[in-house]
Amino acid sequence: MSKEKIFDENKKVVSILGTGGTIASKVDYKTGGVYASFSPKEIIAQVPEIENIATIRAREVMQVMSEDITPKDWKIIAKEVVKEINSDADGVIITHGTDTMHYTSAALSFMLKNLKKPVVLVGAQRSSDRGSSDAFINLICALHFITKSDVAEVCIVMHENMSDERCIAIRGCRARKMHTSRRDAFKPINDLPIARIYPDGSVEMISKNYRKREDDKPYVVLDDKLEEKVALIKMYPGVDSRIIDFYIKNGYKGFVIEATGLGHVSTIGKYSMLEKIKKAVAKNIPVVITSQCLYGRVHPTIYANLRKLSKIGCIFVEDMLPEVAYIKLMYALAHGNSSDEVKEIMLTNLANEISERTLE
Ligand code: GLU
Repeated sequence: MSKEKIFDENKKVVSILGTGGTIASKVDYKTGGVYASFSPKEIIAQVPEIENIATIRAREVMQVMSEDITPKDWKIIAKEVVKEINSDADGVIITHGTDTMHYTSAALSFMLKNLKKPVVLVGAQRSSDRGSSDAFINLICALHFITKSDVAEVCIVMHENMSDERCIAIRGCRARKMHTSRRDAFKPINDLPIARIYPDGSVEMISKNYRKREDDKPYVVLDDKLEEKVALIKMYPGVDSRIIDFYIKNGYKGFVIEATGLGHVSTIGKYSMLEKIKKAVAKNIPVVITSQCLYGRVHPTIYANLRKLSKIGCIFVEDMLPEVAYIKLMYALAHGNSSDEVKEIMLTNLANEISERTLE
């Protein structure tokens, strides 16, 4: 791991931590496949103008495509971010594959406590060796966001639309990849973007309620306790409810159900998930209900079938995204000492993962 810092005391210091993904990739012209190989320094060398925006310190933390990132990697990344933030970095950029970037941003949102500086995840949909890569605008906008706004949250900064005109900063627990290949793949769900950023350095604040920078130490506290034995289970017509038995038998400690609509699971005959969920709750395994609709919120009482789930003791987590609930349940299980405490943590808004009002 090498470090480089070109110091200019008038500029803010931004650390760039590389983790791999398309932003660090090039095309292998023999096979036609894209693979991760660039270090952050090599990426930066292709956009020399970023040295005008900030003093850059860059190093590689790992070199993986993001489908291979695991909860253990979130902890490694969190530790490295804390090292940078608690030294002299004014903010951190993490370059990351886009497929699971929103999982990492949610995990960091829970693990980086009392954050007083910005942490921004940046990726690309086209590899950095192509002239058409979106990597450079995303990086430039992320740097402007860190150096010119007073936001101190975990965010994702990526294109807002298909042209290379502007980016948006999306909260770590509200972002989701919504397109396989477009450069504007990331959207804020049940939330507005925090800010819109232009490559010329203008930053338009969209949200008024965000965590602001503070200047007292420690700038962040690492809290990386997670119970990894949590399963995210999708409800769909014809699902084999015995999947829940499988997880119970294998020692899983919590389930998040990606239910349909307002929070439904199947309720009739051999397909019914109700009995299986009852069995889990009786074993003190929390069952959290989210919606695969993504937009909107789950509701425990509108339909008779929803009432059955809430009577069993399922935890309906408002407008929290399923992936975020999956990570938050890992966090809650590692921090709560009883089922009631786990439930209380799940229903407490810790990192803007729950909002009081649903946006139209
Ligand atoms: N699947 C790869 C990843 O997430 C490529 C997508 C990307 O980096 O944009 O790392």
